[in-house]
Amino acid sequence: MAEQRHRVVVVGAGFGGLFATKALRNAPVDITLINSTSHHLFQPLLYQVATGILSEGEIAPPIREVLKRQKNVSVLLGTVTAIDAEARTVAVAAPGITYTVGYDTLIVAAGASQSYFGNDNFAEHAPGMKSIDDALELRGRIFGAFELAELETDPAAIERWLTFVVVGAGPTGVEMAGQIAELAHRHLPGQYRNINPRQARIILIDALPTVLSTFGNHLSTQALRQLHRLGVEVELGTKVVDVDETGIEVETNGGRRRIESMTKMWAAGVAAPALARQIAEATGAKTDRAGRIEVNPDCTVPGHPEIFAVGDMMALDQLPGVAQVAIQSGRHAAGQIKRRLAGEPAGQPFEYHDKGSLATISRFHAVASVGRLHFAGLLGWLLWLVVHLLYLVGFKNRVTAVMHWFVSFIGRGRSERVATFQQVYARRAMREYQHKLP
Ligand SMILES: Cc1cc2nc3c(=O)[nH]c(=O)nc-3n(C[C@H](O)[C@H](O)[C@H](O)COP(=O)(O)OP(=O)(O)OC[C@H]3O[C@@H](n4cnc5c(N)ncnc54)[C@H](O)[C@@H]3O)c2cc1C
Repeated sequence: MAEQRHRVVVVGAGFGGLFATKALRNAPVDITLINSTSHHLFQPLLYQVATGILSEGEIAPPIREVLKRQKNVSVLLGTVTAIDAEARTVAVAAPGITYTVGYDTLIVAAGASQSYFGNDNFAEHAPGMKSIDDALELRGRIFGAFELAELETDPAAIERWLTFVVVGAGPTGVEMAGQIAELAHRHLPGQYRNINPRQARIILIDALPTVLSTFGNHLSTQALRQLHRLGVEVELGTKVVDVDETGIEVETNGGRRRIESMTKMWAAGVAAPALARQIAEATGAKTDRAGRIEVNPDCTVPGHPEIFAVGDMMALDQLPGVAQVAIQSGRHAAGQIKRRLAGEPAGQPFEYHDKGSLATISRFHAVASVGRLHFAGLLGWLLWLVVHLLYLVGFKNRVTAVMHWFVSFIGRGRSERVATFQQVYARRAMREYQHKLP
């Protein structure tokens, strides 16, 4: 009987899990990659799906297609709900079925979820941006707001529909605000008869005193200037204290005030997924304030050299939750497994090589920080274009994304404006339906 090869289970096919799996391509291992959806997701471009530039397929290729040539991988759909660190198994749930998978080494790369800083009730009226569902729901809400404004006759109601509030002035919030402003001022004018889309207000709110605070003063100021040029109202030092169907309550040094707005979106915080807590309980590992697992320098979970936690769900040296950390830590875990199997010394600490940060504000305008070099404007945008094309998974997706960028950035079109009633309302219906279950 053939000897069983070393079994590696990878949880999550985001940047961390996918790059770890690919790095094990030629290793003498059998990999089971478990992901709660059947697609990999390029999260940095979700905002372009939400604002009608890209289709969801372009940023979310099927995992099994991406890995079809890698014969040592089996891709399984399911959400890992628990791990048994003693028995070395993970429990998985998929629609209508539960199953268990055994491992010799486990790589957990389950990413992060949205955090509403303890106000989860805000989610109903201010969706976050973590998944294709989120992006399509937001797309429906954004384009739907212009449609419903067109039907209104009451000026206050029109204003409420045409006021868009984005909470969180990090890269995602800045990119969203910039794109909605371009929609309102550049793409939609001329398409409505009763409203003028140019009258839309786009308000970007953050509790911090700067936008893009991690990019440093110079780029942060450049980004703010460009947002103002686009007509975005930026409200800094402003804390959101309540969100409801028709508006948002904010608090500043000057007191509390309400902004009437039908369309709100949340790009403000991240927290570790529920699985991180379960792993911490199963292994005795500590978690940081965001719930991320505190790992050893080599990305293993303390006391469990057979379990690696990588990417957004690991807490190590205060590394940020960005794609490069996930990619590099995923590859590091794979490298450690290969060394161990080859009988070479392992346990080397993970060394992160910061390749820089990028954020687009509008077409032809981005800020980029690469080492000591800072770029703003067209140069930053060209860098953004190259980097996103390099990391977008799949040749087909790169080609069609370029075509869509051409339509939106050179032309005035938005090719992906379809949003169905279900995309906008299904989440609410599901929540109500769940309450009625026995
Ligand atoms: C809107 C947005 C914009 C961003 N922009 C940038 C940017 O411009 N630059 C940058 O560097 N970073 C950006 N990031 C951050 C970057 O996307 C993350 O740091 C990166 O995706 C983390 O990779 P990961 O593998 O840890 O997790 P993810 O990529 O989130 O992947 C986690 C995977 O695990 C799966 N999963 C989760 N729980 C389970 C479970 N229990 N069982 C099975 N599967 C599970 C998920 O379906 C997902 O496929 C952005 C993030 C968001 C949300």
